[in-house]
This record gives sequence, C-alpha cells and structure tokens, in this order.
Amino acid sequence: MTLSFSVLGSGSAGNCTVVSLHGSGEPVHILIDAGLSPRATAKRMLPLGLTLDDISHILLTHLDRDHFYPSWVNAVSKHDITLHAHMRQRARAVSCGIDFKHCELCNGHIELDSETHVQTIPLAHDELGTVGFVLEHSGTRFGFATDLGRVSALLLEQFDNLHGLAIESNYDRQMQLASPRPGYLKQRIMGGKGHLSNDESLEAVLQIADQSALSQIALLHLSRQCNCPTLVTRLYADRARHLLDDLTVTSQYLATAMLPITSDRSGPLHPRQPQPAEQLRLF
Ligand SMILES: [Zn+2]
Repeated sequence: MTLSFSVLGSGSAGNCTVVSLHGSGEPVHILIDAGLSPRATAKRMLPLGLTLDDISHILLTHLDRDHFYPSWVNAVSKHDITLHAHMRQRARAVSCGIDFKHCELCNGHIELDSETHVQTIPLAHDELGTVGFVLEHSGTRFGFATDLGRVSALLLEQFDNLHGLAIESNYDRQMQLASPRPGYLKQRIMGGKGHLSNDESLEAVLQIADQSALSQIALLHLSRQCNCPTLVTRLYADRARHLLDDLTVTSQYLATAMLPITSDRSGPLHPRQPQPAEQLRLF
C-alpha cells in the first residue's frame, strides 16, 4: 500500500479528506479541502494518530465556505502548510484573506514531491468552477471530484486507470424535486453547474470502474435534505452490486476509517455484467 485516505467529513457543513502517502521516506500527509475548522479537523484526525503539524499541503477544489473554513488562513501559517488553489480562484483567495506566502496557484500540474504528482481537472460549478484531482503517488492513482455540475468528457478521460475514487453523489432526483426548496435553488443544483445526482454519479462510477482497477470508491457530499445513505446503498445493490464491497458512503458527522488503496491488481477488479438495456443495445 502506498496511498490511503480518510474522509473526515463531507457535506454542505464542511468537507475535508486526509490522504497519507507512504513512499520511500517518511509518510507525507495532505488534506483535500479544509471545510471543517482546524480544531474539528484535528479532533477527527486524532484517532488516526495525526495532528495538524503532520499536514504539509492542502489541495483546494474551490473556496466556498464548506471547502475552506476561514480560520485556516492563520492555521496554515502556524502549522507551516502550503495551500494549493487553482488560478481561476485567485480573486476569491484574495477576498478570503489568503496570504500568498502560504498559497501556490496552479493550472494543470502540481508536483508535491519527487514521488507525488497531481493533475488538476477544471469542472463546472457556479460562476468560478471547481477542480478535480488525480493524485498519483509511486504509481498509485487516486481520483477526487466533488461539487461538479456535470460529468465532462475531460473528467472521464483523466479518471482512467485509477486505483481509488472519491466522487460526489449529492442528491436523489425525486427527493430534490419534492423538497420545499425554492425553484431557483433546485435549478442551480440540477442545472449542470451545481451538483451530481445519485444516478449521474453512479453512471460515472460505472464507467470509471470499467476503465480502472478500483480498490476503494467513496461517495461524497450527500445532501442531508435530499439524499439518504440507505437509498444510495440500495441503488448500488440494485445496479452495481459488483462494486458494493469497495464502496464507502461518507458522512457529514463521522470520519471514515483510513481506507487503503491498493494498486497491485490489474484491470477492473469486478468486471461488470452487461445490464439488460446494454445487452439489448448489443443486438
Ligand atoms: Zn460543497
């Protein structure tokens, strides 16, 4: 195992994932997003044996409040952490008060160290967009994408030959439509620049699994009002049973265990059986 991760919390009240890289030297620990307060992040990392001083980098998908909690502006300086934000977020980073002594702006590729490379993938979300990542460490590839309005061809192209995947599964379409939310908000979420529904996410996961050798699949950012972990698990039981053993549905309130990503198996771990509709298309 060279790479493992724990989703410390995921949802509209704060997103944060810790990734541990076990290379040839001392392990390196990074965060993807910092939407929990530094204090809450430290508390949720404690059972993993980690403190904020163990974190060397934070990759930011974007700078909405649920992905970047304001007091990290001071915490990164105190704990000597380097932030990485996408160029398109520059003005937003300035308005958040981020000191560029502790923040590198990226556009494309980030080299964290000689064994760890990160590819950024621009994604549609609100006005400024967000970014997905493929984190590659000693040959192990981990794809991470949240708050994406739609699954683009570029994302599917980059999320190839992965060994681990974390992707949002934000809402159940029926629950969203039936919710008391105002129409403009439903439109913002469902209109291609908001979030992925469970069905949209599942379709992406199935395609990525077919072109990868996934040992972990984590579903992120479930809506508390318009989704339900049991519903999502049932969806996978019905339509992607071959992926259930590798599936983790993450929570806003509880950190997942440290999930190890293995890269020693080649090809899709559990080749998917054609679904009835696909079988029909074959003829
Ligand atoms: Zn979010």
